[in-house]
Amino acid sequence: MIRARRIADQFVAAALLQVASGLVPRGQREEWRAEWKGEIWQVIHASSADWQGTVFTCGAFKDAYLLRTDGRKPRAFHALAHGSALRCLALIFVVGLVGFLTCIASPSARMALAPSSSDTTRTVLISGDRGYRGIEVPSVRIADYRRWRTETRHLYSAMAFYQPSVESVTAGKHSLKHVKVAVASQSMLSFLNLTPALKVALEQNQSTHPLLLVTSNLYQALFHGKSDAITRSIQVGGQRVTITSVVTGEAWPLPSSITAWLIEPPNVLNRISAASRGFVVARVNPGGSAASLGSCWYMFVPQPEGGLSRFTCIAISGILHAPIWVLWEMLCLALAALPATTPLDLGDYPHHPNRHFALSTIPRWIFFAFKIALIVPSVCFWSIALAYYANPLGSLAAVYIQMVVAFLGFLFAFRWAWRDQRRRCPVCLQLLSNPAHVGRASHSFLDWSGTEWICSKGHGFLHIPEIPTSWLSIQCWLHMNPSWHSLFSDTCIE
Ligand SMILES: [Zn+2]
Repeated sequence: MIRARRIADQFVAAALLQVASGLVPRGQREEWRAEWKGEIWQVIHASSADWQGTVFTCGAFKDAYLLRTDGRKPRAFHALAHGSALRCLALIFVVGLVGFLTCIASPSARMALAPSSSDTTRTVLISGDRGYRGIEVPSVRIADYRRWRTETRHLYSAMAFYQPSVESVTAGKHSLKHVKVAVASQSMLSFLNLTPALKVALEQNQSTHPLLLVTSNLYQALFHGKSDAITRSIQVGGQRVTITSVVTGEAWPLPSSITAWLIEPPNVLNRISAASRGFVVARVNPGGSAASLGSCWYMFVPQPEGGLSRFTCIAISGILHAPIWVLWEMLCLALAALPATTPLDLGDYPHHPNRHFALSTIPRWIFFAFKIALIVPSVCFWSIALAYYANPLGSLAAVYIQMVVAFLGFLFAFRWAWRDQRRRCPVCLQLLSNPAHVGRASHSFLDWSGTEWICSKGHGFLHIPEIPTSWLSIQCWLHMNPSWHSLFSDTCIE
């Protein structure tokens, strides 16, 4: 029985050894295999335990691998080693990717990144004389809306009124407080991003009861996903209403976050006090005089009590893409401020007769361009994510947060990119190491005093003057003499 096990163990070990020998260079394979066969025979016959030979042979794979790579770490590991150019780019890419995913997770940030449709370009939000503050604060009286529906047909093909409020919503025994509900006119249905079939069905509804649309998130919070909840009625601010439809969060294309819409029939909306204020959205008539006025313009309306009132009309696309404009402005501002924080000169790199060194200028600039190209979207994504993760589009607080984050992000990221580029070897793009101070401070004018950095692969030295002088005002690279190369085991110099 023991003999049979040993034969089986020997057979399995021989098979594993045959596979492992495939990793060994061809010239050394036979000798390596013979050595291992001898070792395995010894292990199998010296031990009384079962399958010792098989376990021992597993070590042959590591031995064969080390023999093949000559003890070196794999090339991929070298490329991502500490201080390497690829690792630097990979880290910036990961930071940008996390920022992008954070944007995707936030409805407001996602809307800011989405391309604008022709519908959002033609749709305007009309606010009182508050400019962009009118995006957040209800500023149009419903009396004005009632008059505009008939008096401004030459300007607008459709118009809707909505009045957001914070209500408590109750479904059975379950109650939610601070739910953002918008009481809206029936014409609001044409402005919501609903499926065509649902939009037609709702617009043809002749019921004298209000229609209630809730987002899927609110629906989940109220009913915990029960499918029969669609037939239930809930209390919204003390009024009992039946849920008409559950829609996605993207159904609301306008600024501010709304989780439920109460579409009131005209007779109910007419009972609202004339002085009550809300928001008015309108779709610009393509053939009207307002079609060519751009993304922000003013509308002067005669008032019944005399005089003219000024209203600001802001295109929804302008509000949705305000974060992109903020980014452009902050990018320009950061680039203008950059020379005040760090010198833009990347240093003096003398020409080298070796063609290998001469060609190294191209990857150096490619690396720098990639670094900047990755930094810009990373800062963009993070500034939008931080500003709009908890704030709706159109929020002034979010705009201020984004301005600060984007400006400081661009400025310090560019500053870091320039400083990082100056601290790299121009040949292998590895971060330089082992800084050493050379010379005394008194030598600055008649000799040289500063810090010397060295490439760990033996490509050269970087001299950074302590005090810039007329003959050495910026850092200077010094190629290493070939006689030094034997000191660097990892050198790639040819
Ligand atoms: Zn180097």
